[in-house]
Amino acid sequence: MKIGIDAGGTLLKIVYFENEKRRFEKRPSSEIDLLIDDLNTYHSADEIYLTGGKAEYMNEKLKQIHGTSVEFDATYRGLIKLMQEQNLSIKRFVYLNVGTGTSFHQADWEGQTRVGGSGVGGGTLMGLSKLLTDLDSYDEIVKLAAAGNRDEIDLKVHHIYAGRQTPIPGDLTASNFGNVLTGNIQDMNNADKIQAVIGLVAETVTAVGISLADGFETEDIVFIGSTLLNNDVMIEIVRRYADLKGVNAHIIENGEYSGALGALL
Ligand code: ADP
Ligand code: MG
Repeated sequence: MKIGIDAGGTLLKIVYFENEKRRFEKRPSSEIDLLIDDLNTYHSADEIYLTGGKAEYMNEKLKQIHGTSVEFDATYRGLIKLMQEQNLSIKRFVYLNVGTGTSFHQADWEGQTRVGGSGVGGGTLMGLSKLLTDLDSYDEIVKLAAAGNRDEIDLKVHHIYAGRQTPIPGDLTASNFGNVLTGNIQDMNNADKIQAVIGLVAETVTAVGISLADGFETEDIVFIGSTLLNNDVMIEIVRRYADLKGVNAHIIENGEYSGALGALL
């Protein structure tokens, strides 16, 4: 069996590959030593390939490994594979890996260039949600967000223009959380707050993606990373923002496994 592991800041993404069959698994990065024990105990005869920020650490503790890859190269290889499988044949695109933080890349079928990063990502979603609502379960957070409404929290362009004609779409966010002081704070419940946090993360990374796409002369932006997982609110905000700006947002199924998959390719 071949095993590809992307050991990230928050999650360990694992791909098991045997007899042309693939199985995906995720574990919290806090359980990295448990995974290492499992691999040393049950998978000493298997081929293990590593990537991600914690790959070096795993490399030191594993009895044997077959290779390590630079995270950005592995992710690109895995992403191209998933795009081919999902019949997404865009030649030139920007992709965003929305993990704990976010990294931005411009790519074509020849390769990728990492063009930047932002500390705003899934870790921001988790951290701000905890501070604002005391919730810390990802599944609970994304589920609750769907029941919220961020209209009272965010300041929209049409709020500022107050009924007058707007030079850009009035529904765009003028300031994330910018309406809190003028809004009715008592009416802002946990679902609203979390939805606003997701809005902040989604709009920040998408705005950067849109600018990079413009500079790279493409209209296609590809999103990967566990922050999109079951995150309907995030996906809807990304799609709506992209629509307003005339770009195509592509959300890759199993995209969070790009690195793990690429590591064993
Ligand atoms: P990294 O490679 O930095 O570990 P990921 O692409 O795995 O990043 O994304 C991590 C983010 O995914 C978290 O910050 C969180 O927002 C989200 N997430 C999705 N599922 C989970 C989960 N089960 N537990 C914790 N965070 C999760
Ligand atoms: Mg990652």
